Amino acid sequence: MHTTRRVLVTGGAGFVGSHLCERLLERGNEVLCIDNFFTGARSNVAHLVGNPSFELLRHDVTFPLYVEVDEIYNLACPASPVHYQFDPVQTTKTSVHGAINMLGLARRLKARILQASTSEVYGDPVVHPQTEEYWGHVNPIGPRSCYDEGKRCAETLFFDYHRQHALRIKVARIFNTFGPRMHPNDGRVVSNFIVQALTGEPITLYGEGDQTRSFCYVDDLVEGLIRLMDTPDAVTGPVNLGNPNEFTIRQLAELVVELTGSASQLVHRPLPQDDPRQRQPDISKAKALLDWEPTLPLREGLIKTIGYFDGLLSEQR
Ligand code: NAD
Ligand code: UDP
Ligand code: UDP
Repeated sequence: MHTTRRVLVTGGAGFVGSHLCERLLERGNEVLCIDNFFTGARSNVAHLVGNPSFELLRHDVTFPLYVEVDEIYNLACPASPVHYQFDPVQTTKTSVHGAINMLGLARRLKARILQASTSEVYGDPVVHPQTEEYWGHVNPIGPRSCYDEGKRCAETLFFDYHRQHALRIKVARIFNTFGPRMHPNDGRVVSNFIVQALTGEPITLYGEGDQTRSFCYVDDLVEGLIRLMDTPDAVTGPVNLGNPNEFTIRQLAELVVELTGSASQLVHRPLPQDDPRQRQPDISKAKALLDWEPTLPLREGLIKTIGYFDGLLSEQR
């Protein structure tokens, strides 16, 4: 009889996935991490390899997977525009075929399954802040659609497997998250600004920099994901997970300059197509259902993340 909980993390060698694997091992779970290493890397989980409770498998979720586990966290999917637009057809396949395969696996095993969905399902929102009831304002044929619509379709599949096959599902809508092990070249704003500041390059504000985002530190997010997985079966979500403290992109740039002591100048670049103007989660549901809210202020999260990138860049020098 197997008594330890066996947990599958797809996309486990990525930024969020590697932190999640770490926390699950700390909790005494056995972790099977699968990844095709498209944006993730072995180095993100190198410190876990050798732990007898950890297993790393190269696998692409668009293909069926036959393993035995008790819980599934489905995180596999490139997450930054640069990466998900590199091969948009593969991005949609990863979200949609990947969801079908992981739901099929969960169905056979009667396992609980959590989907890492995204605030992008709200598109460029006309409701602010975004509650889970809001249906979104998404362009179905634009450059971001492979990601946004792929994630929306994955949510549909999760709820249809729940209704049709009584699957125990959990859907988390994750808002901008940052921290160590973000990809240095993924073009996301936090990693871009920190790398630019540390290397003395100009800091690139897209548009005027008055668009807003709210940034959640990765440890806070992982805590929210685990709490959601642990809720009673009646709780399916979707549940917003993110930090409600909203900042303009200009404020973020100024904070990064201050914390790095950088001499970098702020410069303007064109705003990408379909770039949402503002984004802020309403996390009332997460507070009520999970007794969860982010604890680490942006400044402190940035200090930890700057420390990580500083180490990474000095290795490369
Ligand atoms: P990431 O790119 O670091 O991680 C994604 C991982 O999935 C990578 O390791 C990648 O190699 C792997 N992957 C991609 N396609 C795959 C496939 N077909 N088969 C197997 N593995 C595959 O990104 P992240 O920021 O850690 O995001 C993790 C999840 O959280 C994603 O599903 C993303 O959509 C979601 N999310 C993240 C954020 C954020 O701000 N970081 C916000 C919203 C949602
Ligand atoms: N699947 C998988 N592992 C399993 C069971 C299913 O990868 O252990 C995949 C398989 O590709 C299947 C898909 O999940 O096509 C959906 O499974 P489901 O049982 O919903 O439907 P099926 O396609 O088998 O009728
Ligand atoms: N952004 C920016 N400079 C950069 C990278 C991004 O001004 O070097 C802006 C981008 O236009 C967007 C915000 O920062 O308004 C967040 O971008 P990111 O790609 O990190 O995430 P998302 O748009 O998916 O929230």
